[in-house]
Formats: sequence, structure tokens, C-alpha cells
Amino acid sequence: MRFHQAAGTALLLAAQCAWAGDVIHLKARTVRPAPGAAAVTGVSRRAHFIVQFPSYPGPEIRQELQRRGVRVLGYVPDNGLMISADAGVRLEGLDLAWSGNLEAADKLSPLLSEPAPAYLVVFHSDIGMEAARALAARHGFTIVENPSLLPGQLVAAGSPTRLEDLAAEDEVSYILPASADLVAGATLMACGGAATEAGQIGEYATVGRGWAKDAAGEVTLRYLFESLTSKLDANTAQGEIERAFREWTRYAEVGFTPGGSAQSVRTIAVGFGRRAHGDSYPFDGPGGVLAHTFYPAPPNAEPIAGDMHFDDDENWKAGADTDLFTVALHEAGHALGLGHSDRPGSVMYPYYRFASGLTADDIAAIRSLYGAAAPADPGVPPAKPPADPAGPPDPPAPPVPPAPPSQPPARADKVAPSLRILSPRFTIVSTSSPSLTISGTAADNVGVAAVKWSVSTGAAGNAAGTGSWSAEVPLLVGTNVVTIRASDQAGNSGWRAITVVRR
Ligand SMILES: [Zn+2]
Ligand SMILES: [Zn+2]
Repeated sequence: MRFHQAAGTALLLAAQCAWAGDVIHLKARTVRPAPGAAAVTGVSRRAHFIVQFPSYPGPEIRQELQRRGVRVLGYVPDNGLMISADAGVRLEGLDLAWSGNLEAADKLSPLLSEPAPAYLVVFHSDIGMEAARALAARHGFTIVENPSLLPGQLVAAGSPTRLEDLAAEDEVSYILPASADLVAGATLMACGGAATEAGQIGEYATVGRGWAKDAAGEVTLRYLFESLTSKLDANTAQGEIERAFREWTRYAEVGFTPGGSAQSVRTIAVGFGRRAHGDSYPFDGPGGVLAHTFYPAPPNAEPIAGDMHFDDDENWKAGADTDLFTVALHEAGHALGLGHSDRPGSVMYPYYRFASGLTADDIAAIRSLYGAAAPADPGVPPAKPPADPAGPPDPPAPPVPPAPPSQPPARADKVAPSLRILSPRFTIVSTSSPSLTISGTAADNVGVAAVKWSVSTGAAGNAAGTGSWSAEVPLLVGTNVVTIRASDQAGNSGWRAITVVRR
């Protein structure tokens, strides 16, 4: 993210003392503020840009910006704010760690390298729709109407060669592929983005690392229902939201357990409200925004982190629009720390329709934060043991009960080995090497008999060791999905998979 050095530059710069702090997380790239980076001291014409602080910009910083005539439009991880400032605004003395504007390349979705029928153009939230339409038309784009579009967003069709010029306009925030549903004018569910107390996170940014593991090495969130909707009976509404939670636990190493209080940490308080309902994001009546969710801590502070709010002016239904499960599935993704996906058709795309479950894109995203779940019986959602970090330590596991007489004795042990991959540390890795050493641990109530590996390209073999194991896995150029499986004498097995891209 360089400053535009052209004669028409909008920002006045000053040398800044060295501070190499948190990075700025954009979808297109990660920006590492360089020591000695310049900071903005003033603005010569209206501009949108990011100001980053040495720590989380709290209410006093946001109020000081507003006092100077700056509009705060959203939060940019880490510790940044997207702002809009008019000519003449001065920013000296604000203790900025770094500042800079989005370049055209930062506003173009990485998925635009593939052909798209049209583009979803997102404008900064202080830009009027008349100006937005005029700008798209001036760059040769045709506007495709869709009744579901949120304020500040347009579907535009036109030549991909013109996208970069459109993205270079200061008013444009991000451009991503439009889904076929958006282009066809379908009525869709819309999400305005998940929230932080300092503002929403723009589509150009990625969100963060999700929830940290607890002392037991797990991420188990508690949830409670503060209020429900009158449109559905309480059991149905709760059941649909819990079913949405379970869908995420099928694929990633996360768990949800009922309980806690709205004030406790790592607790998702679920509520339904109308219009202004106690936070800085009032709902908009029937249609439009259906729900919003606060991201994990960080970037949000407790106790609001993870909380999910549904607009009670919507006509909530189970199994038909407006389908509570579908909306809860999308919002639970935000509660777990996912931002929006640029992939049309995924549950985490900003416009979505009736969903029965997660897509491959959603599953890859949640596994990149928490790793893959290791189901004992693939196809059945794993039952997570309840974990209460605030409560007493877990009692020792009860002995495995003897199998009933009708069970064949060989199947008396039904506990699958648990498996952890310790290296590499991520579930998606990239390398130029022809092989990769994968290592980890396995444990079982009776004993681990074998740890085996297999690759989607066809290779397979035994890992060295069982309780502590390692394997050197050959890689072909391209995508290699490596599955590690630990089994016991009774034939129970647990598995994990990682994706390795060889360049
Ligand atoms: Zn969303
Ligand atoms: Zn709310």
C-alpha cells in the first residue's frame, strides 16, 4: 500500500518515527507497515484511507477523529480505521502508527482472475447511490438491478479490462464476482458484514484468527438465548439456531455448548430485536439487513464478542424464507471469526439463499482457522464433550461400559483414537518442495495400532511411530490433500486432513 505520488495526491505526509506493529490484513495482500513509514498530517481533497494506531482505537480516539471532521467508516484489522476526510482536515498529534490508502489492486477480489458474469461493486458507506451509479456508468459498466441489494452496492456488467480503472476511484471500496442469483435479479438474503465496536469490517479486509484455544487446547463456545422471535415457537427457533451451530462443528475443531451468562467470556448471546436495540447498529425494519454478529475477541472486547442479533421485523420461518437456519448458519460463521467469502454460492458470500449446509469454500475457510474435525464416525456430527472453563476440572473419564450381550465382543471398544497434526501448523500450506514431513500425536483408550497417510494424488503409506508419529509425504505440483488416519485394534479410526499446494 504505497501512497499515490502523482501530482494530484490527496494526502499530506510527514516522516514518522519507527514503529513496526501489527499488520493490515487485506484479502489481496498483507501490508506490513515499514519502520519509518509516512503518516498523514492532512488532506488536500476528499479521500478515503486507513489510519492505524499502536493499539485498538477505542471510543475516545473515534470521537477525536469526528471532532476534527473525519467520518469513521469501519474497522480494519489490526488496529486500523477506514476513514473519510474532506479537504482541510488536519491529523497531527493523533499518535498514528501508520496510514495509507487502498490501491486499485487491493480493491479487486483475487477471484476476479476467473471469468464472472458481472461484478458486485461495493462503495464506501458515505457515497450516495446517485454518485455510485454515475461513476460505474462513466467507466462503461451497465447496471444490473436486483431488489436485494444493500445501500452502497451495485451489480455492474462490463469488460474486465475496465475493472482496474473503476477500482482506482476513491469512492470504490471493493469489487468481487457477482453471483448468478444477483445477476438474475433473484430475491436474496443480504448481510451488511459482521461488526466490531469500532465499525464494520469492509469486504476488502480479512478478519483475524478467530477464537484462541482454551487451556485444554480447545475452542468450545457457550451460547444462550436472551430473547426469541414471536414468529416461531421457542423450541423451533432454538432448534434451528443450534442446528446451524452443529453444522460448523461437523467440519472444524470447534464446539458449542449451552449455558453461561451474557456477561461471561466466550459466550454467544443470541437475541432478536427491532430497530435500535442497544448497540450502534439499529435494524432497518422488514427486508434489508436480517441479522448481524460481533466478531470474536479480538478484535471485539468481551462480553459483546460473538453475540448474534436477529432483526425481529423479519418474517422468520423454518424451512422457507426467511429461513432462520440459513441466516443463523451465515451469522455463526461470523461468530466463529469468518468474514465474507468472495466465492458466489458459498454460505459466507454476502448475498445468499436457502442453504441446507456448508459448501467446500466455507469448510476450507473454517478449517483454516481451527483445523479439521476428527469425526469418529464420518457423516455423523461429532458430539463435543461439554467444556466449562469457569467450572471445576472435568472428572476422570468413566470406564467404558461392558458391551451389551447382543454386541459382538470385537466391537466392545468403540472409542476412536484422537489425532493431532503438530507440524505443519496450518491446514492449508504452500511449498515448492517435492515432499513434506508431517508429524503429530495420536492417543487412544486402548492403544493406537497404526497411523497411515494417503494423498489425493494416489500415494499412501505408514507413518513412523504411533503415539508420536511422522511421515514424509510425496507431493505432485498442484493441490495435494493429505489425510492422516490413526486406527486401533478394534478398527475404530480418527482422521485429519491438510491441503498442501506445491508450486
Ligand atoms: Zn455476513
Ligand atoms: Zn445488534
